Amino acid sequence: MKLFETLGELGHEQLVFFHEPHSHLKCIIAIHSTLLGPAIGGLRMWPYAAEEDALRDVLRLSQRMTYATAIAGLDFGGGKAVLIGDPERDKSEALFRSLGRRIDALGGRYVTLEDVGTTTCDMDHVHQETECVVGVRGARGDPSPHTALGTFQGIRACLRRRFGHEDVGRVSFAVQGAGHLGHHLVRLLRAEGAKVFVTDINDERVEEVVAESGAEAVPMAQIYDTDAQVFSPCAMGGVINEDTVLRLRCQIVAGGANNQLESNECATELERRGILYAPDYAINSGGLVNTALELSGHDAANSKRRVMATYDVLTRIFALAERDGLATWQAADRVAEQRIDAVSRLRLPYAR
Ligand code: NAD
Repeated sequence: MKLFETLGELGHEQLVFFHEPHSHLKCIIAIHSTLLGPAIGGLRMWPYAAEEDALRDVLRLSQRMTYATAIAGLDFGGGKAVLIGDPERDKSEALFRSLGRRIDALGGRYVTLEDVGTTTCDMDHVHQETECVVGVRGARGDPSPHTALGTFQGIRACLRRRFGHEDVGRVSFAVQGAGHLGHHLVRLLRAEGAKVFVTDINDERVEEVVAESGAEAVPMAQIYDTDAQVFSPCAMGGVINEDTVLRLRCQIVAGGANNQLESNECATELERRGILYAPDYAINSGGLVNTALELSGHDAANSKRRVMATYDVLTRIFALAERDGLATWQAADRVAEQRIDAVSRLRLPYAR
């Protein structure tokens, strides 16, 4: 990778590599933008096959965080951290405290929270070393229920747009991923009486969700082929690619996973096939909103109102897309970019 060229293209401010052999820390933190405020974004722990993969992931994810915070109306910029390691085997108190010290050394430019492979317990260890962390136990905790609630509201906006009603119970869903987010989302969908198919690479998680909610398990490879009306990616990125996009039989793609589309061509193909796409960073910001507002001193009730407003964010994107003949992802990018531009130009008038 031509590093500085890539940073220039994506617009990153700063990229930091941390290595500490005693705690086995190998971490990359990407600060994409602090134009709206301190960069905020999750800490992902994953056994990346190659260091390049980790680098690519952190650059892409941090850029999307800038758009996510902007579209959600937060006074935060975008960042992300990736920890190279296996979350099942390589965790320790020392690892997360070691990382916490390094985040602290960034002087408030980056605020972390949990993401794929990390938990509130890990955030507690980070918190022993820095205040630049949200979503610790005793405060707002796990962001996933809030992300699921925001995603659920976004799904309602999609149903209104596509079917002219918001009755979740009349609709069927295929949920990919039964982790933190997927589990909470299935719970919300089933509570409304929706038919839900669910899958995960981890059989135990599927069994747990099925036993609790009455959803129906499907094999991993078949999740794209169900006749559910809504496909809801809640696992890893890149799942809508040139192979899977042709298999989808749904009318809506709306889920909380980050970077669902492998390329913009996939979005075009979704449009061509009449499938409404809910831009991922716009629909999955509920946990981010809740935890970021915790930092800004908002109470839980106000934060919940802002999470529920995911419905309005999606509605605005769909209206703009229709008015200007844009794909939904283009409309979302435009809303986010316009806010970054407008807010970052705010200046105090001169005063002595
Ligand atoms: P998680 O680690 O708790 O769950 C992810 C699940 O996906 C795991 O159960 C894993 O086994 C499963 N999985 C991995 N690859 C799969 C595949 N190919 N097919 C089916 N299942 C697969 O993570 P999470 O917190 O639930 O996050 C899920 C996604 O949502 C991620 O993309 C994350 O970035 C995004 N997200 C989560 C939140 C949140 O608050 N949890 C917020 C914003 C975005």
